[in-house]
Amino acid sequence: MKPVLIPHSSYQSFLLEQLRFHYGPGIVIVNKDWPLVLKLWNTDLSYLTTLLQPVYSNQGPESRDPASMFRSFLLFLMTNPEKGLTEWVNEMKRTPIYALLSGFPLDNIPGVGTFYDFFSRLWPAVDPHLKSKKQQRRKRKTKKGKKKGEKAPTTTTGRVHRLVQWMMRHSDIKSALPSDRLFDFFQSQIVAVSAKLGLLGDLSALSAAGDGTPITTAAYPRSKPICDCRARGIAHCNHPRVYSQPDCDSGWDSAREKYFNGYHMYMISAADSEHDLPLYPRLQPASRHDAVSLVMSAVEFKQRFTLGTVDKMLLDAAHDAESIYLLLEHQGMEPFIDLNIRSKKNIQSKGSSDIKISPEGIPICPNGNWMRPNGTDRKLHRRKWRCSPHCGCSSAKYGRTFYTKTSDDPRLFPKTPRDSDKWKLIYKRRTSIERSNKREKIDYKLESGRHRSTMMWYMRIYAIMICQHMDAWYVSQKEEWDSLKRTICPSAA
Ligand SMILES: [Zn+2]
Ligand SMILES: [Zn+2]
Repeated sequence: MKPVLIPHSSYQSFLLEQLRFHYGPGIVIVNKDWPLVLKLWNTDLSYLTTLLQPVYSNQGPESRDPASMFRSFLLFLMTNPEKGLTEWVNEMKRTPIYALLSGFPLDNIPGVGTFYDFFSRLWPAVDPHLKSKKQQRRKRKTKKGKKKGEKAPTTTTGRVHRLVQWMMRHSDIKSALPSDRLFDFFQSQIVAVSAKLGLLGDLSALSAAGDGTPITTAAYPRSKPICDCRARGIAHCNHPRVYSQPDCDSGWDSAREKYFNGYHMYMISAADSEHDLPLYPRLQPASRHDAVSLVMSAVEFKQRFTLGTVDKMLLDAAHDAESIYLLLEHQGMEPFIDLNIRSKKNIQSKGSSDIKISPEGIPICPNGNWMRPNGTDRKLHRRKWRCSPHCGCSSAKYGRTFYTKTSDDPRLFPKTPRDSDKWKLIYKRRTSIERSNKREKIDYKLESGRHRSTMMWYMRIYAIMICQHMDAWYVSQKEEWDSLKRTICPSAA
């Protein structure tokens, strides 16, 4: 049966009534549980019922309230993220307040199968994986980073370049992703609240930061042959095999300095948010490089994000490829990317035959001296450089001058110069994405999910992102929310 819309206020009344009934007139809620109670009390998930209406059938048994199912999953991640869902169902039986907070009467707690059935409704694809399980044997192994802590080397810049060209030609075509239903809910019901509370920054000029992080899902990739070559005595054949996790492969984890199996999660977050709030997650195979992931994520995010204008994108040096600057400009975002100085050679400047440019983007005069910045000509979008008259490279009274333009080389001459205070102020917020990714992995134990399907990994990621937003709502309105304790429990301090 199709679920009946249960307004959030009905959940609140249910909770009050149940807590009072089961705990007597003075409810006992231990201090540690109050933040959970307040977060769930204030988070309206009822839109899920409307969103999922079309995917339930008219017949059959009465369905569970979608909001309560999802609320329970959030509570699970807030309290027992290192356990499995089967254990969570047991936990709700042992700890009645968890069942009540979810919205379940104590004599009617759903089983684990009901949870999986519910999740599959949030995933508008038949296959819980993105790729087919039947695949050609994978051979290439990703390269290691050379130095300690260094990320894997950029897949040929040519690959990023070709992908960018393709994406720019096709950026107006939005192709549907199975994770879109989750994003729709997340954006309209969760991020929108954070936006209203002013937690994302200035909505008309948002800064976003992007970065990838490894997610280990299994110790080894599992695959089975579908041919009978082995039985016929052929040890190594190139026939397709069946992979249990077709969207995962092996990649290099630069922080842990080892190979891992799983996903490369690429996240875009609101960089000006002091709560490091996540906005758009994307799972890629572990071998995928940051620069390639960013290209796909930037286009998908731009097509989907409707709550404000993102005009700045903050990325680390692993993204320092010329075509990424072009792509971001094309998307209306100003790139703020650290230089990844690969070569020590000076290059020929475009403006003048006797001026060279250092790998850091500084003009070098014919005598081999670094020129100094001498102001910006905003009208002509160019930066002025000057050499000291003492250098002798020019007979001009104030020394030789030279101009650099962003359009000549957006990488070496960004619109906002890298040595300016403005750059430093904006770019220092980039680490927000690292804190956000850490929070998901360390506080919410992202990698403890023992899931086999990409569908379940997306459920876990989105739920954790929702928890991060709820945490920020609580912190930013603590006084107001804490005063609700009296409404819920009159005897509370
Ligand atoms: Zn074979
Ligand atoms: Zn000079």
